[in-house]
Amino acid sequence: MKIAHHVDDATLMSYAAGSLPEALGAVVAAHISLCGPCRREVADLECIGTALMGKVTPASLSRPAPRIPPADARDNKIEASDARAAVEPCGDLPAPLVRLVGSDLSSVRWKRLGLGVWHRPIPLSKNAKGDLRLIKVAPGQVMPEHGHGGSELTLVLTGSYTDEIGRFGPGDVADLDDEIEHSPVADQETGCICLIASEEKARFKGLIARLVQPLTGL
Ligand code: ZN
Ligand code: ZN
Repeated sequence: MKIAHHVDDATLMSYAAGSLPEALGAVVAAHISLCGPCRREVADLECIGTALMGKVTPASLSRPAPRIPPADARDNKIEASDARAAVEPCGDLPAPLVRLVGSDLSSVRWKRLGLGVWHRPIPLSKNAKGDLRLIKVAPGQVMPEHGHGGSELTLVLTGSYTDEIGRFGPGDVADLDDEIEHSPVADQETGCICLIASEEKARFKGLIARLVQPLTGL
């Protein structure tokens, strides 16, 4: 898998510090299960975090933080095979997602959201803020132009889409803030299935409202 778009450093830092909201954290966990460089960066950041918590002597801070190898090489292999499976049309999801949505995208029960767009909200824990859902977009379907009013993370699971920023394929993450407005177009042949997390539920509803608008005529 060639991953061209990664999670921002600031987001990885929040993730490593455990301060990222649950929905966004789920997308980061899924991306780093597919992406070696981001996984290593998180390990480094966790190591620095541990150092700053005073668990090592201050003198060692002047040296580069040691790299923590992934917990277990065997685990890594499992992640890599899950990663490959995730991009097959009938394949499984990235390992961290299996717990949330089951092991197979073809068994997801989609709800129609608008013309050529389906979704499947993913329940978060009780008091978690934000929104996490799978979105399926039909081949060639254009999403309404929208902004993001808060952080939004999109991970492509299958197919691809193109927007003002570039092309996003399997494993790619769009880490967008409120500055960015875009109108993604799903690949003409494969369409696109993504995992989307937003910081605040209300923000995402703006996009849903726009998708539903042509149907309801509101
Ligand atoms: Zn990455
Ligand atoms: Zn968006």
